[in-house]
Amino acid sequence: MNAEDGIYDFIILGGGPAGLAAGIYGMRAVLKTILIEKATPGGQLAITKGVENYPGFEDISGLELSDKMLSHAQSYGLEVIQDEAVKIEPGPELHSVKLASGKVLKAYAVLIATGGAPRKLGVPGEDENLGRGVSYCAKCDGYFFRGQVVSVIGGGDTAVEEALYLTKLASKVYLIHRRDSFRAGRLLQKRLRESEIEVILNSRVTKICDQEDGVHSISLKDTFTGEEKDIETEGVFIFIGLTPNNEIIPPGVTLDHSGYAITNEKCETNIPGIYIAGDLKQKYAKQIVVAAAEGCVAALAAASYIDEKKDEQETGQRL
Ligand code: NAP
Repeated sequence: MNAEDGIYDFIILGGGPAGLAAGIYGMRAVLKTILIEKATPGGQLAITKGVENYPGFEDISGLELSDKMLSHAQSYGLEVIQDEAVKIEPGPELHSVKLASGKVLKAYAVLIATGGAPRKLGVPGEDENLGRGVSYCAKCDGYFFRGQVVSVIGGGDTAVEEALYLTKLASKVYLIHRRDSFRAGRLLQKRLRESEIEVILNSRVTKICDQEDGVHSISLKDTFTGEEKDIETEGVFIFIGLTPNNEIIPPGVTLDHSGYAITNEKCETNIPGIYIAGDLKQKYAKQIVVAAAEGCVAALAAASYIDEKKDEQETGQRL
C-alpha cells in the first residue's frame, strides 16, 4: 500500500464505472486515494457484451471500456488493490474500512460503489444447476451452448441484448417474460422483432428441470390462464435485474424498500463522509454514463468535505 500508515484521504469501494470515475476525480483533486475491488475492475460493465450508448464510443465491448477507465485512473497514479471490504466503522474524524485480508484502512471519506449482483428467480432447480445450464452471463457461458436450445428470462435491456447475442451461438433462443410488454428500449425491441427469437409473454418460470448431464427443460405458468407447460432447453440465462450489494453499508444510512441507498444530489448519505454512487444508489436510470457521473459528483463532494475536515483539524490544533 502507498500509505504506510493505512491512512488515506479517500477510499473507494468498487471498481465499476462509478468507482473508477471517482478514482480519476479523486486523484485530480490531489486526494490520497485507494480503490478496493474484490474481483477484477469493471464490475457489471466488464461482462457487458457491447456498449453503444456511452458518449464517444459508438460500439465498444464492456471489457474494453472498463479497461480504458482503469488505465485512465491509473495514469494519475490511483492505487488499486484486490481485496474485499467487509465492514465500515464510521468515526467522528476518520472512517475505518476492514478488509477480508485483515487489513484496516482509514480515510476521511469513503465512497461505496459496490453496485449490484444478478437477481435470482428463486425457483427450484436454479441454484442446483448453476454451471450445469443455468447462467447469469451470456458472454461468459454462451459459447458452451453452441448449437443448443437456450431460454433467456427477463424483459429489460439486458435480457433482450443477451438474447440477441445468443442467437449467434444457439440453434434456438426463447425469450420468456412475465408481462406482455418489455422494459427494454425501442431500438432493442426493434432488433428483437427482426430476429428469430421466439418470444413467450405473460409467463413465469416455475421450475428448472435437469437430468444427469444438466438442464433439459423449464416449466412455465401462464400469468393469465394459469396454464402450465414445459419447454425443452439446455441453457437458462437469467437477466431479471440486479439486487444491490448493500451489505457493507453501515447502519444509519437510509435505504429504499428495495435496498438501494438514498443520498442527496452530492451522493452524500446521512453519515458525514460516507458517499454512495452507481447502481447501489436509488435512481431513475441505471446507465454506465450515470454511474460514471455519480462517481465524479461523489469525488468532488468528498474533496470539499476532506478540505473542511483538515482545516478544522488544523484550526483545532492551533488553538
Ligand atoms: P431491469 O431493467 O430492471 O429489467 C428487469 C426485467 O426482469 C424486467 O423486465 C422485469 O419484469 C423482469 N423481472 C424482474 N424480476 C423478475 C422475476 N422475479 N421473475 C421474472 N422476471 C422478472 O434490469 P436490466 O435489464 O438488467 O437493466 C438494468 C439497468 O441497466 C436498466 O436501467 C437498463 O436500462 C440498463 N441497461 C442498459 C443497457 C443499454 O442501454 N444498452 C443494457 C443493459 C442494461 P417487469 O418488466 O415485469 O418488471
